[in-house]
This record gives sequence, C-alpha cells and structure tokens, in this order.
Amino acid sequence: RADKDRGELTWYSPAMSRASRRRLDLLHDLESAIRQGQLTVYYQPQIALDSGEIVGVEALARWPQPDGSFIPPDRFIPLAEQSGLILDLGNWLVEQVCSQLAEWRALGLGALRMAINVSMVQFNHEGLIDLLAEALARHQLAPSLIEVEITESVAMARPEDVMAKIARLKSLGLSVAIDDFGTGFSSLAYLQKLHADRLKIDRAFIRDMGLSENPYSIAEMVINLGHKLGIKVLAEGVESPAQATLLRSLGCDEAQGFLFAKPAPPAPLTHWFQETGL
Ligand code: C2E
Ligand code: CA
Ligand code: CA
Ligand code: CA
Repeated sequence: RADKDRGELTWYSPAMSRASRRRLDLLHDLESAIRQGQLTVYYQPQIALDSGEIVGVEALARWPQPDGSFIPPDRFIPLAEQSGLILDLGNWLVEQVCSQLAEWRALGLGALRMAINVSMVQFNHEGLIDLLAEALARHQLAPSLIEVEITESVAMARPEDVMAKIARLKSLGLSVAIDDFGTGFSSLAYLQKLHADRLKIDRAFIRDMGLSENPYSIAEMVINLGHKLGIKVLAEGVESPAQATLLRSLGCDEAQGFLFAKPAPPAPLTHWFQETGL
C-alpha cells in the first residue's frame, strides 16, 4: 500500500509540476506583456432596446499573441487575480479607457458611458477609488462616464464593505453595474440597499431564453425586479433578433451582444461613431 502511494506520487508529481510550471510561465509572460504594453482593449457597444442607439461601451481586455491569436481573458484574468498582477492590469486598463474617452471627446464624439470590469481583488483594494479619481481628473473626464461592473458574487461576498464602496463610487459620480446577475443569490433587501445603477442579466439566461420555461422566467424576473427597485436592466449575450424582440417586449432597457456588435478595437468603432454622427 505504501508502495502504491509512492508509485502514484512519482506518477503524478511530474505532471503537476508541468502544470504549475506552465502557469508560472504564463504569469511571467503576462507580467512582461503588461509592462511592455502588449495588452489591448476591445470595446463592445451597449444598445438601448427601444431606440437602437448606442448608450455605452464595455471595455474588455485582450492579450494578443505573435501568431495573431488571443489568449482569452477567461484564462489570464483569473491567473492575474490569484497573483496580484490584476492590480497592474487594472491600472493599465483604467489609463487605456480614459485615454480612449479623451480621444473620442477630442474628435467631437458624444460622451459615451464606459463600463469597466473590476474583479474581487481590485474591488476590495483600497486604492481603487483614488486610481479612478486620479485618472478621470488627469484626463479631465466627467466621472459619470465610467461605470464599474462587479459580478453578483463579488457584490455578495462582503456586504458591508461593498455597500460602502458603491456609495463612495456613486458620491464621486461614477455608476455601478452588477454583472452576471442571476447566477448568485442576492436577497431583495440587500439588492435594494446596494443602490446599483444597472443589473446585467447573465448570458446563460439569455441564451436559453424561449427554449425552456425556466430561463425565460429568470430574465423576466430580473427585469421586473430591477424596475421595481428603480434599476436599469441590460441583457448580455444577445445573439438573435428573436431574443431582442422578446427582451423588448419584456421591457428590458438595454442589450449587448453579437447581434448588435462583437467586441472590437477602437478604430472601427471610432469610424462608425463618426458615420452615425454620434
Ligand atoms: P463579462 O464581463 O461577462 O464579459 C462579457 C463576455 O461575453 C465577453 O467575453 C464578451 O466578449 C462576451 N460576449 C459579448 N457578447 C456576446 C454574445 O453575444 N455571445 C457570446 N457567446 N459572448 C458574448 P470576454 O471578452 O472573453 O471576457 C470574458 C470575461 O473576462 C469577462 O466576462 C470579464 O469577467 C473578464 N474580463 C475581461 N476584461 C477584463 C478586464 O479588463 N478586467 C477584469 N477584471 N476582467 C475582465
Ligand atoms: Ca462585464
Ligand atoms: Ca457578464
Ligand atoms: Ca462573465
């Protein structure tokens, strides 16, 4: 039995060390990619469902590779989050989006709300508010241009701290969205106390909408819940006209998804803004 255990150990440990070695390599690469400015930001429009107008954009980090492919954020964000590198990434992203907003303003384009994703470590970090306030001031941007997205699970983790931080962000003039909403178990009472500006219905509930009774009800429930509390509701991952029609009939305020636009670099978006006179 002892032999068998030892056998398993020698069998498994090289594999495990290969996996952790790969993680370390990736982390090291990410660190230098951030330092050397190799990361980039894609922007995805957010649409008002009644008018079809763009009301905002969400900034999404991209890590381009030499072969033209991308390492997806779902892979490098959690890694950055575990290592603390997420704070450097966050600093970098805030600077990028503020420069972009300043550039659009310089071109005479309308003031668009810019949503940024803030992870658990970033949101709990004491420097977040100063970081945002400093970048906004330096670029002479109205704080109302920035919307901070935190996931429902981040919002639920430390209720007192979260309520206090949301209050501070809002007193500065920023807005706050609860991302991936519907996947957690926020209580009605807590949601009311959060004073969030927007609920983003998780893509999973939009994807399954109309296919079975249950997810359809969840989307409808979130829309009604948000509206009862005076919170705007945005549907994520809208891919078909049927979904958009259904959401419109349910009174959903805004939507985001491949049906309207995929996340893209700023240049085509700038061009499109100019053409539509936004
Ligand atoms: P998220 O915040 O829920 O972002 C929405 C994701 O859905 C994005 O994936 C977007 O490209 C994708 N998406 C948008 N519309 C559609 C659609 O119609 N269909 C489908 N199938 N997908 C759609 P992405 O860009 O790969 O980002 C994944 C996650 O990585 C984000 O989820 C967010 O949690 C995280 N993330 C991305 N950028 C950042 C960042 O700068 N900071 C932090 N902390 N997290 C980030
Ligand atoms: Ca998001
Ligand atoms: Ca989301
Ligand atoms: Ca997500």
